[in-house]
Amino acid sequence: MADTLWKRVTWQSENCLACKWFRPADPINADILTNGRCVHPELLKFNLIVSGRDWCNVFEEVSQKQIDAMQAKAMQAEE
Ligand code: SF4
Repeated sequence: MADTLWKRVTWQSENCLACKWFRPADPINADILTNGRCVHPELLKFNLIVSGRDWCNVFEEVSQKQIDAMQAKAMQAEE
């Protein structure tokens, strides 16, 4: 029975990992298990820590340009 239920679990695509308001703690290796801050202007006051697999109804898709910028900044910080 548990197997049957498990097979129905799917990750939706509109999760925090794919959202422009997600600031992962580790932008270089971010995946659905990575924690990070939500910086949506309406939600910022709650100081939310979310994971890549969380989601909410004000999701907005992140652009590849934004991902590249966050990763470049993180790589500079490591140097
Ligand atoms: S909580 Fe909502 S707004 Fe914040 S990162 Fe996740 S999907 Fe985006």
